[in-house]
Parts: sequence; structure tokens; C-alpha cells
Amino acid sequence: MAVGSIMVTGGAGYIGSHTVLQLLLDGYQVAVIDNLDNSSATAIQRVRELAAHHGPSVTFHQMDLRDKPALDKLFASTKFDAVIHFAGLKAVGESVEKPLMYYDNNVVGTITLLEVMATHGCKKLVFSSSAAVYGWPKVVPCTEEYPLSAANPYGRTKLFIEEICRDIHRIDSEWKIIMLRYFNPVGAHPSGYIGEDPRGIPNNLMPFMQQVAVGRRPALTVFGSDYSTRDGTGVRDYIHVVDLADGHIAALNKLSDPSIGCEVYNLGTGKGTSVLEMVAAFEKASGKEIPVVFSGRRPGDAEILYASTKKAELELNWKAKYDINEMCSHQWNWASKNPYGYKPSESKS
Ligand code: NAD
Ligand code: UDP
Repeated sequence: MAVGSIMVTGGAGYIGSHTVLQLLLDGYQVAVIDNLDNSSATAIQRVRELAAHHGPSVTFHQMDLRDKPALDKLFASTKFDAVIHFAGLKAVGESVEKPLMYYDNNVVGTITLLEVMATHGCKKLVFSSSAAVYGWPKVVPCTEEYPLSAANPYGRTKLFIEEICRDIHRIDSEWKIIMLRYFNPVGAHPSGYIGEDPRGIPNNLMPFMQQVAVGRRPALTVFGSDYSTRDGTGVRDYIHVVDLADGHIAALNKLSDPSIGCEVYNLGTGKGTSVLEMVAAFEKASGKEIPVVFSGRRPGDAEILYASTKKAELELNWKAKYDINEMCSHQWNWASKNPYGYKPSESKS
């Protein structure tokens, strides 16, 4: 897409903030909406500072996606060329405990967004889907054709939203929709000025390991050491968050292709890394020892999951550039400069 005006939902969050920065650096005008449920407005301020010498600017609107009148007002006041939709809850365990909260926030929130977009004639969307829609794949690398079967309510919200998008495109071909299935986003902007700052105890490997490295937690619990993998631990496709952000710019460009309808693309590196390999890479990057405690498998975990990236490489002209060592080194740069994330100390977390 020729540079234009983009609305980013969930733009204060981890992937959103990195994507907003890349958009600004590429010359897009950006409006972020976020309810700050799992993020801090400081992230937006830091993005502004990082992009200070580039012309375009970002506006921030603290609002909930489900607040239809507020969303409607924003669309009435600004013409958006496209929406990148990150806003959503993403903790798998919490989604099992509180499924209605997840369906309401993620699915109802998205329906509200789609309705308001349609009302205002903005029908270009890039949506954050997830490898979670593949469930426990029997074959890797996972291609986009792999049957969909989410293993938990979080994954099902992604699956349902994908189906909703396919349905609205089926009855109205003006919709141009790209759904990006992320594998495991990690790392941080090389400046170490923005990064991941989850609320509470992190669910994911990298933020947990990062908190062990800075002394906030005593040890990493490794879930499962009896998988049929190289070293018995789970294998995932880790992708640098800046590569992921660039994937969104590639998707925006693709939305201008007249042949695009409603498409899905995997965003990963195509390489699998085990938990212990990730621990070793992070120890090397940080110079810190990460004590590990082995425990049983985490319920619902897939054994081995990595992407086929051929479709994105071919059709989006995008390929991940960073390797595991750079992911860990940038993660450590962020963690060591911001041991409590965007908060000044533990007491405020
Ligand atoms: P994040 O929690 O850092 O960002 C999500 C943002 O959305 C947060 O800032 C949160 O405050 C906001 N938000 C949530 N519900 C909202 C609502 N109703 N109204 C307004 N704002 C709301 O998460 P992230 O890691 O940046 O993930 C972004 C998207 O990518 C999510 O949809 C997530 O499901 C998806 N995803 C993430 C991963 C991952 O491992 N990080 C993997 C696959 C897919
Ligand atoms: N993992 C782990 N300890 C943790 C968090 C995760 O051993 O504290 C493992 C998990 O079992 C999986 C891998 O690390 O094999 C990646 O987990 P994460 O939650 O980051 O991503 P997902 O499982 O959603 O792909």
C-alpha cells in the first residue's frame, strides 16, 4: 500500500508497539487504540521518541474495542486506509479458566471493529492470528493448509475470528483481509527501548527466562523432558518481533494487490528450537546462568511446532532475518536496561 493512515488496535502491546514503530519509520500515519489492559502508555511514548526524526506521527486513544460509540466517533473523525488488529487477550491458561471473558473480548471485540469498519467503508484488515489454530500438528513444518483445530478457548477465538473474516469476505468481496499466523514472537527492538512487559507471572518461555536472568525469579521450570525431540524438550519456531513487525508492513503492501481476497500466512522462521537450546542461547547472550527445574509436560502443549514459511516468502516477499542468537541478545539488551519493564521497580508491578 502507498503509505497512508493506519489504525492499530492493541498498539501499546508487545507486537503492536514494535509494528507501530516500523510503520512510522516507513512513513505511515498511525492511530493506536488500546485499553491498556496488558500494556503501558509508556510504550507509545517510547515509540514516539524512537521515531522522532521521521515525519509521521502516532496518536493514542485509550479505549476498549467493544466501546462501539467511541470507535465509531474515531472512524468518523479520521479516514483510515487499513486496520491492523492486535487487540486481544492471549493467556492460554486464563482462557481455559475464563472462556466467556476471552470470547467476549476477542470475538465480540473483533465483530464490533468489523461492523464499525464496514459502516465507514474501511475494508482492509490485517489480523493477528496464531499458530494456536493448528492445535497439535502431526506433521511439521506446518503449512497454511494444515487442518484447523484449536486446543483451548484462546486458540478457538483466533479460529472463530478467521472464520468470521472468511464469511464477511464471501458476501462482500470489497473486504481485503490478511490473517497472519504468528509462531513464537520473542526478542525486542535492538535499541532496548521497547520490549515485552507482561503483567503478572509470564506464561511464555522468553519473558519468564528474562525475569530469571534479572533476578526476579529463582529458576525456569522446563515443562516436559520426555518429548520425542533432540533433547526431550518442546520445540518451537521463535521469531524476532521486529521481523514480525516487518511482516505486517509486507501484508499491508499486499492488501493493494487486486488479486487479494481473504488470505492467511504463517509468520515464522521455519526453524525449530528446543527449550534447552533456547536456554543455552540466552545464557550465552546474557552471560547469566539460568537455573532450570524440570517438571512434567504442561497440559495442552504441542510437542513440536514450526512453520512452513514458503507462502509468505513467495507472496508477501518477506523473510525473517534475525537468528536465535540475535533474538536472545536483543531480549537481554531490553531486559538488562528495563528489568521491571516499563515500570521503575517491582513495587509498582
Ligand atoms: P499484548 O497483550 O502485549 O498486546 C495486546 C494489546 O491489546 C494489549 O496492549 C492490550 O491492552 C490490548 N487489548 C486487549 N483487549 C483489548 C480491548 N478489548 N480493547 C482494546 N485493547 C485491548 O499481546 P501481543 O503479544 O502483542 O499480541 C498481540 C496479538 O497477537 C494478540 O491478538 C495475540 O493473541 C496475538 N498473538 C500473540 C502471540 C505471542 O506469543 N505474543 C502469538 C500469536 C498471536
Ligand atoms: N516452556 C517452559 N517453561 C516455561 C514456559 C514455557 O518449559 O516457563 C516451554 C513450553 O512447554 C514450550 C516452549 O517453552 O515447549 C514455548 O512455550 P511458550 O509458552 O513460550 O509458547 P507456546 O507454548 O504458546 O508455543
